[in-house]
Amino acid sequence: MKPDQGVAIVGGGPAGLMAAEVLSGAGVPVDLYDAMPSVGRKFLLAGKGGLNLTHAEAFESFVSRFGERAGALRPLLERFGPQQVRDWAEGLGIGTFVGSSRRVFPTDMKAAPLLRAWLHRLRHPAPGGEPVHFHMRHRWLGFGADGGLRFHTPDGERTVHARAALLALGGASWPRLGSDGAWVPRLREAGLDVADLRAANCGFDVAGALARGVAEGWSAVFAERWAGQPFKTVAVAVGGPPNAPPGALPDASPPDARQWHRGEFVATATGVEGSLVYALSAPLRECIAREGSATLWVDLLPDRSAERVLAEVAHPRGSRSLSSHLKGRLGLDGIKLALLNECLDREAMHDAARLAAAIKALPLRLIRPRPMAEAISTAGGVRLESLDEGLMARGRPGLFVAGEMLDWEAPTGGYLLTASLASGAWAGEAMRRWVRPG
Ligand SMILES: Cc1cc2nc3c(=O)[nH]c(=O)nc-3n(C[C@H](O)[C@H](O)[C@H](O)COP(=O)(O)OP(=O)(O)OC[C@H]3O[C@@H](n4cnc5c(N)ncnc54)[C@H](O)[C@@H]3O)c2cc1C
Repeated sequence: MKPDQGVAIVGGGPAGLMAAEVLSGAGVPVDLYDAMPSVGRKFLLAGKGGLNLTHAEAFESFVSRFGERAGALRPLLERFGPQQVRDWAEGLGIGTFVGSSRRVFPTDMKAAPLLRAWLHRLRHPAPGGEPVHFHMRHRWLGFGADGGLRFHTPDGERTVHARAALLALGGASWPRLGSDGAWVPRLREAGLDVADLRAANCGFDVAGALARGVAEGWSAVFAERWAGQPFKTVAVAVGGPPNAPPGALPDASPPDARQWHRGEFVATATGVEGSLVYALSAPLRECIAREGSATLWVDLLPDRSAERVLAEVAHPRGSRSLSSHLKGRLGLDGIKLALLNECLDREAMHDAARLAAAIKALPLRLIRPRPMAEAISTAGGVRLESLDEGLMARGRPGLFVAGEMLDWEAPTGGYLLTASLASGAWAGEAMRRWVRPG
């Protein structure tokens, strides 16, 4: 980097904007570049789902959601964690509340007012601060021969030199919002260690049901009637691939009780998605990568014991149809009954023991994650080992990295935004120390 005046931030998502806030608040001139005509597009999209800013569970539990990266992210989250995210939003005039699942949302459940207030603060900082200069439609293309930042702009290519630069380019989900992962080969060329990007918090395609003679995906009847519909209050668990031919019921045993997670998921045209599936997407994805498929075990009636379900299913039904018997005795109908019909053959449906076992642990074989572009977030990215404790690239002094493009992943629940903001704040502070030592 050449010693021009200020610092450059590339990427105007939550991570880049938070770094800009820290630096501009400390009086460091900041130029912020983004490929899109406006910043924060994914943040605004997150607002459509209510903008789950963070999570109000105990801090230790919060940190544990980052799995093997929990240790590395702990100091960042101690500095700027769930409480600081709420305080920061309040400081911008946006109150927050804790929802029933302990997820934290802005009171109005919208992203636009928060982003508006944030951008206003960045353009008009408190006395002592430096306004951030925004440069839209500047797509970063990589490094020039002299280490400068090359941009494609509406006026042609331009190279920028700065005392320090932050890349906060996001992952590769929803590329039309700006984050397309095109930086992966550029950073590898520049010598950074980058783990392949993979879909995270994503849906999965199911293997076909033999009972319906379908090689892959749901039967047309199931997909047409039930795609988009939720499985409400079920429990799911992850298992390995079955020792059974494609489409046949796996002969593996369901996981033990500790590994079941309660909640909801949704049927799609080709498989499953939704919060419960997202929560297990990392182990499902890794199992598929390793073994070719994974089993999502579904307990359709988690509030009833296996014994109780068997007793009710086996209860004499007289002249009643099987569906009215199951509805009457167990309240089992709609999409749950349809899934049983989809996965079990006629013989199994009429065998009380097999049917009851399937109600309590129905194995769905998943064969692939949905494409990265459809995912909520991506795993992989710049390995933390290739950065120093201030998130500066070890082999490239003055180059910092933050946000989802770092190699960590977490479930939905506000963890993604919190860690993006935390790493942006952390990198911003390290950049301030870099440009103004002592
Ligand atoms: C549908 C959806 C809903 C979500 N809901 C939530 C939620 O409720 N709670 C939660 O915690 N998380 C949620 N997330 C995830 C969260 O939005 C992201 O993890 C977060 O935005 C990542 O922040 P970031 O700053 O690292 O990257 P991004 O927000 O992706 O921002 C990166 C920026 O870099 C720019 N950029 C990329 N490449 C270039 C380039 N070459 N040159 C210049 N600029 C470039 C992009 O235009 C973009 O502005 C959701 C995601 C999606 C897709």
